[in-house]
Amino acid sequence: MGYGHLDRPAQFLKGVGPKRADSLKKLAIGTARDLLYHTPRRYDDASTVHAIDDLQVGMDVTIRGRVRSSGVIPTRSGLRIFQAVLQDESGMITCSWPGQPWLDRKIREGDQILATGPVKFFHGRQLHPREFTLLARAGKPGHGEADEATGRVYTSYPGTDDIPQWVLRRIFDANLDWLLEHAEEEEYLPAGERERLGLPSLPEAFRRLHRPSHLAEAEEGRRRVAFDELFFLQLVQALARHRELEEEPGIAHTRTNELIRPLHEGLPFELTGAQARVLREIYTDMTAPRRMNRFLQGDVGAGKTLVALFAMLLAVEGGWQAALMAPTELLAEQHALKLRELTWALGLELVLLTGSVTGAAREEILTGLASGRIPLVVGTHALIQEGVVFHRPGLVVVDEQHRFGVRQRMALVDGSESGAAPDVLVMSATPIPRSLALTLYGDLELSVLDELPPGRTPVKTLLRSSSRRDEVYSGVRKELDKGRQAYVVYPLVEESETLELRAATQEHERLAEEVFPDRKVGLLHGQLPGGEKEEVMRAFRDGEVDVLVATTVIEVGIDVPNATVMVIEHAERFGLSQLHQLRGRVGRGGGTSWCVLVSDPGEMARERLKIFTRTNDGFEIARADLQIRGQGDLFGAQQHGRDPLLRFADLTTDEELLLAARRLARQIVEADPELARPAHQRIRDLLQHRHAERLKMWKVG
Ligand code: ADP
Ligand code: MG
Repeated sequence: MGYGHLDRPAQFLKGVGPKRADSLKKLAIGTARDLLYHTPRRYDDASTVHAIDDLQVGMDVTIRGRVRSSGVIPTRSGLRIFQAVLQDESGMITCSWPGQPWLDRKIREGDQILATGPVKFFHGRQLHPREFTLLARAGKPGHGEADEATGRVYTSYPGTDDIPQWVLRRIFDANLDWLLEHAEEEEYLPAGERERLGLPSLPEAFRRLHRPSHLAEAEEGRRRVAFDELFFLQLVQALARHRELEEEPGIAHTRTNELIRPLHEGLPFELTGAQARVLREIYTDMTAPRRMNRFLQGDVGAGKTLVALFAMLLAVEGGWQAALMAPTELLAEQHALKLRELTWALGLELVLLTGSVTGAAREEILTGLASGRIPLVVGTHALIQEGVVFHRPGLVVVDEQHRFGVRQRMALVDGSESGAAPDVLVMSATPIPRSLALTLYGDLELSVLDELPPGRTPVKTLLRSSSRRDEVYSGVRKELDKGRQAYVVYPLVEESETLELRAATQEHERLAEEVFPDRKVGLLHGQLPGGEKEEVMRAFRDGEVDVLVATTVIEVGIDVPNATVMVIEHAERFGLSQLHQLRGRVGRGGGTSWCVLVSDPGEMARERLKIFTRTNDGFEIARADLQIRGQGDLFGAQQHGRDPLLRFADLTTDEELLLAARRLARQIVEADPELARPAHQRIRDLLQHRHAERLKMWKVG
């Protein structure tokens, strides 16, 4: 492999040595390549750096200057303030860091500093830096020369106490030319392709990232490495998709309309535009000879189940069987009930297979599935257990409700014994932004139900401080008096002294004894054994419990139309998407439903919760969540160690780039699935060399 140069241990770079190499490891820099990818976290355009002489009280500015003098000043209140006088060509100003006396050990006379913050009036003008960068150490050669040379943009690198800014800067000054020269070795995009995509070459991209001559250049550099990240992610998924599609032949379903038409004509409503569109996508996939592997997203109540049923009927029309798998028994029961209602008139048999179906009943179902007599089955994991064999499995619908692992669904599909592999439709009620869906499920096709059926009354959402809790309870009581039911949700199970959260167990007692003594109050939390959980849910569904005190376990789509209020305590502790899932538990019947967030949030959290009270649109909430929490949080299990899935790409802004990366990845895999062509040699090497972990995860060799 021709990657020798960038694999060179950092220790052997100019100006590094064993001791600094150790310190660099703390920044996750072990090789020359790591250093190349250690790009500035911040850029300041010199043209926006103010001359010190021009500063006026009230401005918020960035300045650059040399430290003339510095020291720690005690105050009467005992606060110790570090101060440094900065000088540039135009004048001098005092910078003050209250409460940070330790800076005395970091900043010295003669250092070059870039500082950003407000100019305040305090014995004259004073800058109070929010942030500063030590551009160059006093008396050290080579400080920030490149900055001086281009004179346009100041870069700030992530550093540590051991490897501060100015040391990193010197290491880059000594090695960057060499690094850029060898960056060429990893270029996998031909010039024509780069031009088409509007991306610079790799060496050029890194030059722009480390030494931009203006801010736009740094962004162009970032776009290039962001593209690479997205491309290799999509490439692995395209390979996985290819393997899944090619390994076993698919089924070309035949559509006779024998079942689809009567179902359609019997519906008391019209399909939404989104449902019709998604059904066309599904039918096209299913009737094509290759396997369908599709991911269907849609908010709670968007009508996914109905879409799934139409797809199942298409399979059955052509003589195949269809299965729907749900994450819990209760959900499976719920689906079975709903689907039976709809298929009853069609004269189709639909069975329910869960863990509690045993003995003769189970035997009968197994026989019916194996002989092909039973066309439709709804179930849980029981569907993928030993001994469950389908005669002609044509379609598997997996209702993930965001609880199943995506990888798990494959087990069901692999379990089939017919020659052809059934089509797969994965449904999720957790809206996530398109860019995130395409990143996490890049091997699947994506369908989105982004339209709710008409006539829904949106859930009314309120934000209340804890001091108004009594008021909230009387609101709940009003609904209970009308014969309705309520949820009260808490973030934790056990009382935690440090967090002072009102844990569900304690609160259950209080609500049952003091607040609603005349009502039946149930308790549901994650630490109850599985069977008991289902028991409590069932009691609530059947109206035997009026108020259900619960932790987030109820997120998983339980459907109790008579529940019209949801009180969420400590709402600030939940992510927006999680709140949205919780809220989806109410508003399922007619009439008005309420969601009350009880919280005493700080300013940031208040802003977040306010967004939530203003909209019922899951996709809008998901976008806001992505923006607020950042993408790292949302990757969950896909995140490996401290190596982020995406370092340079930003899913809130890079959707175009992602689509381009996806197109190219799929195009390459379609044309050359083994990546055997000479033109793809470097891509192949890079995959094996740099993305081995991911290849393993997606099981592509
Ligand atoms: P999801 O599975 O996406 O949460 P469902 O399929 O359970 O949603 O649909 C929720 C409710 O809306 C069901 O009672 C269903 O019959 C009804 N529904 C589905 N599609 C439509 C439509 N196009 N117009 C009116 N009601 C619909
Ligand atoms: Mg097909």
